[in-house]
Amino acid sequence: MKRLYIDIPMLMNSNVNAEDIHCEYMFHQKNHGAFSLLEVAEFSAYCRQCKEAFCIDACPKEALEHQENRMIKRYNMRCVGCKSCVLACPFGTIFPEVINYVTSKCDYCLNQLEQNPDYEPACVQTAPANSFVMKEVVEDHKQNIFYVGNHLAVRTPSWLNKEGKL
Ligand code: SF4
Ligand code: SF4
Repeated sequence: MKRLYIDIPMLMNSNVNAEDIHCEYMFHQKNHGAFSLLEVAEFSAYCRQCKEAFCIDACPKEALEHQENRMIKRYNMRCVGCKSCVLACPFGTIFPEVINYVTSKCDYCLNQLEQNPDYEPACVQTAPANSFVMKEVVEDHKQNIFYVGNHLAVRTPSWLNKEGKL
């Protein structure tokens, strides 16, 4: 099964602006779906997934919750964008740029891929070369390649690898 693969160091080193990476999500004009993926990747790879999470305690709107696998999820219909969680995290793992009041959506272009397995979504076509690729991905923690959910994979340095916890 193909996944959207994002090479985060490559993306960051390219200095691309988020608005230059297009998205075809049909319900929003000017959607920057890549933003929502960076938020998910952040909670997956950088967040320490604290058992007693300061970010959850600091949120005045109960917009952050642990999921079953301890990953934090932000419910954007509750979030008011105050960024208290950004200040509360002792590890500095919540980046204000990706905690937006208006959250973009990514549906991984699943409908288009179902009709055409070779389909290249707009983000893949407009992101800097090889930073967004739709392909079969094998998770490999030693190579810093992680699955995030069922349709996304990211390559990114992870604190788990650094501290020998994988
Ligand atoms: S306080 Fe920071 S590291 Fe801990 S769970 Fe919240 S975001 Fe993750
Ligand atoms: S930015 Fe959103 S998730 Fe973070 S503390 Fe404020 S309301 Fe909660």
